Formats: sequence, structure tokens, C-alpha cells
Amino acid sequence: MQDKTRALVIGGSLAGLLAGRALANHFDRVTILERDFYPNQPAPRQGLPQSRFPHTLMLRGQQILEQFFPGLQAELLAQGAIAVDSSQEIAFLNSVGWVARSRSDLTLLACSRDLLDWNVRRRLRSLPNVEFDRSAAHPNGEMTREIHADLIVDASGKASHAPQ
Ligand SMILES: Cc1cc2nc3c(=O)[nH]c(=O)nc-3n(C[C@H](O)[C@H](O)[C@H](O)COP(=O)(O)OP(=O)(O)OC[C@H]3O[C@@H](n4cnc5c(N)ncnc54)[C@H](O)[C@@H]3O)c2cc1C
Repeated sequence: MQDKTRALVIGGSLAGLLAGRALANHFDRVTILERDFYPNQPAPRQGLPQSRFPHTLMLRGQQILEQFFPGLQAELLAQGAIAVDSSQEIAFLNSVGWVARSRSDLTLLACSRDLLDWNVRRRLRSLPNVEFDRSAAHPNGEMTREIHADLIVDASGKASHAPQ
């Protein structure tokens, strides 16, 4: 019998969560290693300081998220996200002045990063072969152990030690 395959993702922000979702189709087991404690509701956390700034989800991102998590967009809208026609409802000022507004199909989804990430985590938790390893969030931070994996994805963002 073939050994079970395992993928490890370092960093559980949006890139890590979506990498985990993609890998869940190809590996028996996917482990997401995040050093923060996740809040149990849509709320800020230390490793995502930019979440307090407004974020919008562009069209291609919406499509990919909907493929990964069918029904997610409707859930976000029901929880307060706003659909925005980017060329009709957002004012753009460039070097020649204000850009004329017109209707378009380019609908952005505006919501907080905390709401988006919380929903993506909630959906990922429902996949039987995805697990969150919170040992890196241990308060003493001194614990060391080895984790073996067939594929490792570094999604730890600007804090990455990969170059070293
Ligand atoms: C002001 C601002 C506004 C923005 N607005 C938008 C927007 O409107 N739309 C948009 O699409 N993007 C926007 N962005 C960009 C977006 O926030 C980032 O591109 C995105 O968060 C990057 O995701 P990431 O998963 O690669 O990295 P990060 O979000 O940086 O996540 C890295 C994760 O790795 C964890 N980590 C780090 N080191 C370790 C370790 N050693 N072990 C375990 N875990 C670790 C961290 O805790 C964190 O959770 C904005 C950014 C800023 C700064």
C-alpha cells in the first residue's frame, strides 16, 4: 500500500489558506501551521496588521474563491459584504482629472479582511484532510519539533525565513 502523502503550509493567512485548499485535492493530509491564535469570530489578529485597512476582492479572486468554496460569495454578502461596481461607484482621479463613470460588469466585493479570512478558515475546517497546527502559537515559543512532509509551501509573507 502506498504511504499517505502530506503537504505542509507555513503561514495561515489568505495565501496559506488558499494553498491549503488547493493542496487538499492532491494530498491525503494538509497541515497549516500558523503562529497566531486565530480569533473565533471575524476579528483582528497580530499577524495581519493590514486588516484594519479597507480591502476589496477583485473579480478573479471572487471567481477562484467561489470555485474553492461554492456559495461563499452569498455568505459574505449575507454577513455584510458590499458588491461595488468599480467603474460606476468608485471615483478615480488621474493626471488628466476625474475618470468618467459608467456601468460595468467589474463588480468588486468589499468586506473586511477579518470577515473574509474567518469565512475561508471556517470552510477549510470542514474539509476532513485539512488540519490547523497551532503549536507554533505556543506562548513560550521554545518548543522545537520536526514535521515531515512531501511538499512544503512557505506562505509566511514578509516574515519568511526562506531566503536564509
Ligand atoms: C494597507 C493594505 C491594504 C491592502 N488592501 C488590499 C486589497 O484591498 N485587496 C487585496 O487583495 N489585497 C490588499 N492588500 C494586500 C494583502 O493584504 C496581502 O497581499 C495579503 O495579506 C498577503 O497574504 P499572505 O498570506 O501572502 O501574507 P500575510 O497576510 O502577510 O500572512 C502571513 C502569515 O504567516 C504567518 N506567519 C509568519 N511567520 C510565521 C511562522 N514562522 N510560522 C507560522 N506562521 C507564520 C503570519 O502570522 C501570517 O498569518 C493590502 C495590504 C495592505 C498593507
